[in-house]
Amino acid sequence: MIERFRQIFGQAEGVRVFRAPGRVNIIGEHTDYNLGFVLPMALDLATYVAAAPSGGRNVRIYSEHRNEMREFEVDGLAERKPEQHWTDYPIGVAQELIRAGHALGPADLLIRSTVPEGSGLSSSAALEVSSALAFLNGRAMDPLELALLCQRAERNFVGMPCGIMDQYISVFGREHAAVEIDCRSLGRRYVPLPHSAAFVAVNTMVKHELSGSAYRDRVRECAAAVEILKQQYPGVESLRDVSPEQFEPAARLLPPVVARRARHVVTEDARVNRFVEAGEAGELARMGKLMLESHRSLQHDYEVSCEELDFLVDAALGMEGVFGARMTGGGFGGCTVTLLRRAAVAGFIEGITRAYEAKFHLTPRTYECRPSAGAGECKNFEKIPALS
Ligand code: ADP
Ligand code: MG
Repeated sequence: MIERFRQIFGQAEGVRVFRAPGRVNIIGEHTDYNLGFVLPMALDLATYVAAAPSGGRNVRIYSEHRNEMREFEVDGLAERKPEQHWTDYPIGVAQELIRAGHALGPADLLIRSTVPEGSGLSSSAALEVSSALAFLNGRAMDPLELALLCQRAERNFVGMPCGIMDQYISVFGREHAAVEIDCRSLGRRYVPLPHSAAFVAVNTMVKHELSGSAYRDRVRECAAAVEILKQQYPGVESLRDVSPEQFEPAARLLPPVVARRARHVVTEDARVNRFVEAGEAGELARMGKLMLESHRSLQHDYEVSCEELDFLVDAALGMEGVFGARMTGGGFGGCTVTLLRRAAVAGFIEGITRAYEAKFHLTPRTYECRPSAGAGECKNFEKIPALS
């Protein structure tokens, strides 16, 4: 990477490399912006930013994925407007850093990533967090503040009203464990996964146009549900505050579509807690069943799945060693995550690849998900230290 940096920027003095991982969310989908529970793990797929202070007056950012270089005057960074371009992510982060009182100087940044873009494995948060570390260039920052700052960049500058999950897990990921996050208190619990269990993400290789606008619609529909439910139950500020038992008698007060959206969120929060219990008891069958219930809820009540995701879930269920599967990430394409016996992984990957190819004439990419450390500087390239 440093050699590449030299080719692109003409020198490689003082280069440091920062890494932030993507993630797979095991269960708890579309619950983070409702201040509920999620259970992601950080992946060994990650975004790396090689960075060095430079002479001159500009920040230069190059993405290998895009094979594109963009240049920005440091003095104008605070006033820049979003351009609907990939640089909105790092520039949004730069603005939030400036706003938080961190002076930024001229610098060169080279971005390399192994996280597939727009596939529900959170390349966006990986880019935000790694860029923030690169801009900070070794200056310390509280890890929770780092995650929140990157979320603000995506919400305020990129314009995506996202929850905290992606940035949080990219910062706080850990080897050998998933992380249960309480998206209201921002507390976390490391959840070791049963040793005999494996998780495989399967990429549909599609992303339907709807995804951005539907996400915003869902955020609005959940807010509409809260407005009505709080009349019934004073003190309700988000869907997190409504239990399934409270929800059912009140559901008829909501317009039918809003009721289905809210039912997904309310039941999904409960499923995260039950999944963690099942995981701690090593009950793979119960974990798998909860993942499938999550998928059906996303498919029918939240309506964020698609034909390709449904196919991958249904096909996985019939395969040797599989306990359950669901879509992961925002939906409308991207990946599924399947829970299966570790010994069955190779056969599953072959089987699901063949089944998907036969149906859609597309080869899905597959990733065996290994829980990995959160973001940090790469000091030597075998051992990547975590921030947390
Ligand atoms: P996800 O986070 O699930 O991968 P998003 O739509 O939230 O999907 O974010 C994907 C966007 O992030 C891309 O369209 C691009 O703008 C930006 N991005 C992510 N990784 C890179 C990269 N390596 N180089 C340039 N842009 C990137
Ligand atoms: Mg994203």
